[in-house]
Amino acid sequence: MNLIIMGAPGSGKGTQAALICKKHELPHVSTGDLLRKNIADGTELGKKAKAFMDAGKLVPDELVLALLKDRIEKSDCKNGFLLDGFPRTKAQADALGKIVEIDIALNLDTDLNKLADRMASRRVCLKCGYSTSAELAPDGKCKECGEPLVIRDDDKREVVENRLKVYAENTAPLVEYYKAAGVLKNIDGMQSIEAVNAEIEAILK
Ligand code: ADP
Ligand code: ZN
Repeated sequence: MNLIIMGAPGSGKGTQAALICKKHELPHVSTGDLLRKNIADGTELGKKAKAFMDAGKLVPDELVLALLKDRIEKSDCKNGFLLDGFPRTKAQADALGKIVEIDIALNLDTDLNKLADRMASRRVCLKCGYSTSAELAPDGKCKECGEPLVIRDDDKREVVENRLKVYAENTAPLVEYYKAAGVLKNIDGMQSIEAVNAEIEAILK
């Protein structure tokens, strides 16, 4: 099964992606995580991507596409994968359509006005990609690997606003794109983590 999970920044797609991948034993392919890993490792790609990410802008298509292709050509993606944070532009969606077929595009529907608060309390693990909120992790440690959790550089208020704008302009139109392709499934993303996950599981059954 080749899946996509879409939604605005802060919609909870990373959290849901991790739950889906664990249950269905699918590789979780998050371009955001891959980019942050490149930054942490000090690679050339990471150096190029950092300024765009810190400003809340999209990393140029050609950089992200090369990264994505590399990842989904690995053998663990042969029998399916879940894409999280990709595609984010029509050009990315077109390029993706040329290399693989997408079976289901899950879309987390959210109220964009309420997402800035969610992102302000987000805490992430840069080592394994685990993401949670400050309230759910009072000890400040990653539940998966024990590393200290950090605030993402792009979760600052000023940057968050820009990310939401970039989402509305570039990525929201992809909902119609996948609807037209007949693979779109809408989910109410303003519910609890458990309720959102239950809706998704009902679709994947
Ligand atoms: P969120 O969805 O919460 O914004 P991500 O981790 O998916 O978080 O993305 C963080 C940043 O990484 C984006 O703001 C963007 O700069 C960059 N990025 C991730 N995926 C892509 C992509 N497919 N195309 C362009 N930039 C991307
Ligand atoms: Zn971790």
